[in-house]
Amino acid sequence: MSVFDMIESEVRSYCRSWPVTFDRATGSRIFDENGQGYLDFFAGAGALNYGHNNPILKQAVIDYIQRDGVTHSLDMQTVAKRDFLETFSETVLAPRELDYKIMFPGPAGANAVEAALKLARKVTGRESVINFTNAFHGMTLGALSVTGNSLKRGGAGIPLVHATPMPFDNYLDGLTPDFMLFERLLKDSGSGLNEPAAVIVETVQGEGGINVASVEWLRSLSELCQRQGILLIVDDVQMGCGRTGPFFSFEAAGIKPDIVCLSKSIGGFGLPLGLTLLRPELDVWEPGEHNGTFRGINPAFVASTEALKTYWTDDTLEKSTLAKGEQVGRALTDLALAYPEAGLKARGRGLARGLLFADGDTAGKVCRAAFDRGLLMETAGPDGEVAKIMPPLTVTDAELEEGLAIVDDAVAATLGGLR
Ligand code: PLP
Repeated sequence: MSVFDMIESEVRSYCRSWPVTFDRATGSRIFDENGQGYLDFFAGAGALNYGHNNPILKQAVIDYIQRDGVTHSLDMQTVAKRDFLETFSETVLAPRELDYKIMFPGPAGANAVEAALKLARKVTGRESVINFTNAFHGMTLGALSVTGNSLKRGGAGIPLVHATPMPFDNYLDGLTPDFMLFERLLKDSGSGLNEPAAVIVETVQGEGGINVASVEWLRSLSELCQRQGILLIVDDVQMGCGRTGPFFSFEAAGIKPDIVCLSKSIGGFGLPLGLTLLRPELDVWEPGEHNGTFRGINPAFVASTEALKTYWTDDTLEKSTLAKGEQVGRALTDLALAYPEAGLKARGRGLARGLLFADGDTAGKVCRAAFDRGLLMETAGPDGEVAKIMPPLTVTDAELEEGLAIVDDAVAATLGGLR
């Protein structure tokens, strides 16, 4: 029995899908301790958009540590943090005419979400938040209350309150204009809906199964929030930092959320960093009112700054992500067409892609078959019925083709008879 089985909690999950012990990783490939390589089309659930041990970011972090740069600094002022704030402002905010203030809420996505929810409630004096079916916002109690998955919600141990789910785009299969329900409930004084402080939304639901909100839906949501005086929070923890093409996933819709949550790939190197961006008028915090020990992990600032300078001063990465995303999308559509009996559906935007299977069991078998052939990908969706394809954005064309060929093989091995 391994030490993992002996003393690590039963709560562990990814290691059950990939039961080997990993040791090294570069770019889109991760190696186990025996030197067996795997193409990584999971990319740290979106935390490794620039690949494993990206050499440019690695050098910046090594140089910083080598010169005894401050590692831990709470929210004290450091040179690394100043460089990050200046670079984020010049590279990300200014070109998009965004004037957000930047809050460091703690490193995890859930930290960024908790801060957003707290702030929305503080600003509006209202308690209720609107979330969407199949949303995923994290495991802390506030974030969990706006998360859909019943297994995860069940882990809370207390009632999860002050959140009301509405249908996400296309939840009703396009048969009913799902957006109308929310608007109707808001307008109807007899609906029983508490006046919401905020709406929290992912533009593409990652954990929820790669459910893509159309730009029209997002625009309507943003307009509705403005009309009704409800704050719009976009949780870009997984889809931000270029996963769908542009730096922010909401850019395609041309909307400007009131609050934006970032984590995962904002740390550049897989290092922990979270941000909550807020419209300046919303910055009503008292000093220290929302606090935390790990809000100044300087090697993460260094890696993030380097990533912004390397990948976000022009649109090269954005264009290549869109092109590669189209390529994956075509490959998945072809697969769906090749197995007409299996009811497969391709979905996604940019390099957040998914293939919907009839059930979670089949999707799980496909991911397992992919692992046996040297590819990491995971399932998503309420019953794990979507095989999710999220390579690093820096994946090469050759690696992408190699990975897609494995997906093809894995589907054939699982569904062979249905072709
Ligand atoms: N929000 C979204 C959209 C996510 O996908 C995730 C994690 O997958 C989170 C929040 C929570 O992030 P973390 O696991 O870092 O707390």
